[in-house]
Amino acid sequence: MVPMSLLPIDPAVGPSSLVDRYGRAARSLRVSVTDRCNLRCLYCMPERGIRWFPKERILTFEEVTRVVRLLVGCGVREVRLTGGEPLLRRGLPVLARMLADIDGLEDVAVTTNGLLLEELAAPLLAAGVHRFNVHLDSLDPVTFRDTSRRDALGRVLAGLRELERLGAVPIKINVVLIRGVNDHEIPRFVELARTRPYQVRFIEMMPLGDGEKFEAERLLPGAEVRRLIEAIQPLVATGRERASAPASVFRCADGVGDIGFINSVTEPFCGGCDRLRLTADGMIRNCLFARRETDLKPILRGGGSDVDLMNACAFEVAAKERGGSLDLREVYETRLPRKMWQIGG
Ligand code: SAM
Repeated sequence: MVPMSLLPIDPAVGPSSLVDRYGRAARSLRVSVTDRCNLRCLYCMPERGIRWFPKERILTFEEVTRVVRLLVGCGVREVRLTGGEPLLRRGLPVLARMLADIDGLEDVAVTTNGLLLEELAAPLLAAGVHRFNVHLDSLDPVTFRDTSRRDALGRVLAGLRELERLGAVPIKINVVLIRGVNDHEIPRFVELARTRPYQVRFIEMMPLGDGEKFEAERLLPGAEVRRLIEAIQPLVATGRERASAPASVFRCADGVGDIGFINSVTEPFCGGCDRLRLTADGMIRNCLFARRETDLKPILRGGGSDVDLMNACAFEVAAKERGGSLDLREVYETRLPRKMWQIGG
């Protein structure tokens, strides 16, 4: 439970509870539903020795739904289900439906590595999920295996085909580039965006994992990627989809899809951030890089009221830092207490 002395000044449950000191309102909630994953991406998870959250610490669907309903009452408008790999959570379409049924929630989206999409795309769509971000670092089976330590490219491609077949387009493809590992595939990804209804988004690798591959020199700045692409394919800027959207988006001059750049490291976009995060084990967090968080489980499981829950969330929002720069060395050397898959990317 949050100590009384730390509660926000105005504990009223209302939209103002989710506006931070810098005037940013939380509209978008990332909900992680599991810390488990069926890939072991180099920059994210170690191959072995992972200590998973014990099952009893994972929020139930009812607990997640209660928190989301309250946050929607205070201005949250979209939820993105993530993980770990969210499609590994048994019954995910049931949770998606419970969330999609919340009055006032406009959008339920999923971020997935796509391995289970072929089976789950249809039930998720039927449950009210209409937007899918699919993580795909390589279009080559060997490089896919090298970056993810699993031989699964075929399954991801089958999942993408299924999304297209079901008309769930445009599909966003998240590509994390690692210099010297998959950067030679940039032209192939550009060709994918030119010929398919996809938005291919190049994401800068962040020092947020527990893998061995993050070294500052492996980071490929988005500006460099853009220069490489413009040498082979003219890009037309379309801007951000919303001021708070992480990607700056460009259209291929003669193509059907888009290309986006998420330059989280070299050009952090904290000024327009509207995100809040709920981890699979019930922590409410105001930033991927936050060194603090509040555990909602004692409130959820200890008979706490909705006002107690909202106060805990409002407290995290009030504590959100201005951000705007990322000291790579500091983040990497001190190592954040939680890794990406324990937060929800
Ligand atoms: N399993 C799902 C997936 O693969 O999309 C959802 C969770 S995953 C943590 C979400 C996204 O975060 C993926 O696109 C993944 O590549 C990305 N990611 C993980 N670690 C990262 C890092 N250190 N830097 C940048 N992106 C990272």
